[in-house]
Amino acid sequence: MTDTGTGPRPGGAVVSGSAARPAAGAAGTAETTDTAALRERIAVACRVLAVTGLVEHILGHVSARVGPDALLVRGRGPRERGLAFTTVADVQRVDLDGAGNVPAGWSAPNELPIHTGVLRARPEVTAVVHTHPPAVVAASVAGLPWLPLVGSYDIPAARLAHDGIPVWPRSALVRRWDLAESMVAAMGDRPVVVLRGHGLVSVGTGDPADAVAAAVTRALAVESLARIALAVAATGAPLRAIPDEDLAELPDLGSAFNVAAMWRHLEARAAAEGPAAPLREEAAAPPARRLGPTSA
Ligand SMILES: [Zn+2]
Repeated sequence: MTDTGTGPRPGGAVVSGSAARPAAGAAGTAETTDTAALRERIAVACRVLAVTGLVEHILGHVSARVGPDALLVRGRGPRERGLAFTTVADVQRVDLDGAGNVPAGWSAPNELPIHTGVLRARPEVTAVVHTHPPAVVAASVAGLPWLPLVGSYDIPAARLAHDGIPVWPRSALVRRWDLAESMVAAMGDRPVVVLRGHGLVSVGTGDPADAVAAAVTRALAVESLARIALAVAATGAPLRAIPDEDLAELPDLGSAFNVAAMWRHLEARAAAEGPAAPLREEAAAPPARRLGPTSA
């Protein structure tokens, strides 16, 4: 669960580098205010995923694009305590090949190719969320269809389902490029894809901080739909989409409501229901090291 994932892929894989370098922020890589804020947004998003039950324990990650070829991604530090306890130090910058200058003891997720694969294939995407939501996993294993079962109960979920929630039929750990490419192909241009027996991937576009929030809300919408589908299926009743005339009465209420207001709620919940652990640890940062692509 905590190794660095060294499967072969074009462009290199994440490996443990050993070359020391000055502390992060030096050597012309001083962090901008925007990047620091984005790191915090990603850390909070991980805590949100934990308090809302979309991730269990130590699995799941969030990333955001910080340039054409680079991303900030939640990895694992030497004091890994799971998503609920994510700090900004758990979020580090790597390039699309998985290379970067990172603190000692930090490693990128095994499934970094999920993030880099989507970001490479879809230039418009600026945030990627990968979670293992239990209801989504159960519904996918059961082979339940992803239909707009509900209307006003959850408009974003209904609209997502109406427009299509693709399913990638593999249950593999996505630690190789070929698996990531297959997953990305299944996802197409949709904002979410269900990974059967595994979880889901959701994305956002535009401003990266907003995109992180949007991707989290999309993951929540799919989990909400999955819970309803499982509950209906358990009664023995058929799963039926709501009528077109009702779908037509489900307006897009806009990102100010669906994302911004929802994010304020989620951030407040993470603060109120999550652990009191600070987002920024006061301890001195460990020495940095170089994370480089393999030559394999
Ligand atoms: Zn996974």
